[in-house]
Amino acid sequence: MIKEKGILFILSGPSGVGKGTVRKKLFEEEMDLQYSISMTTREKRAGEVDGVDYFYKSQEEFEKLIEEGELLEYAQYVNNYYGTPRQYVEETIEKGFDVFLEIEVQGAMQVKKNFPQGVFIFLFPPSLEELKNRIVNRGTESQELVLNRLKEARNEIEMMDAYDYVVVNDKVETAVEKVKTIIKSEHLKRERI
Ligand code: 5GP
Repeated sequence: MIKEKGILFILSGPSGVGKGTVRKKLFEEEMDLQYSISMTTREKRAGEVDGVDYFYKSQEEFEKLIEEGELLEYAQYVNNYYGTPRQYVEETIEKGFDVFLEIEVQGAMQVKKNFPQGVFIFLFPPSLEELKNRIVNRGTESQELVLNRLKEARNEIEMMDAYDYVVVNDKVETAVEKVKTIIKSEHLKRERI
């Protein structure tokens, strides 16, 4: 069986849909995936660790990374930059390992342009009402930020058609099982005798 390069999986979808939760649960179980840790200029939240959750950068440092072409994609999201390190992703895939990105929609669309062979998974909220509750109940943000995130979420849902798969996140365990099934079937698609 020949499986040459690794596969790039992109999990995306609106803020508050539960991408982070699905990704963390998947990584508790799925050992053959490399998570690409993103760069961000946003403040570290309580309990987060530099180099584990994100690489935290100043605005100047981030803009230098953009100029030097070090990012596979980046987006400005609620007044902060978020981006994916290009070299890590390209080298890991080249070595034959699968890479998993958990990013917002604008960034995912850039990856689609530069990396169309990636597998794009859209995590869909059970309903807009539920999404609103999740964003509000997260409680880490001011009311203004909550409203921005909701507005952003409505725009992002319109991009759903550009994805290969849509997974409804009504129950985390079920969503994780579906993502695992997608990963397995993408492997089968690429297997050659
Ligand atoms: P948070 O601030 O809640 O950690 O993340 C905010 C949003 O940024 C989430 O939708 C998350 O998926 C997204 N995000 C995290 N890392 C990246 C990245 O490298 N690139 C892009 N475009 N979005 C990211």
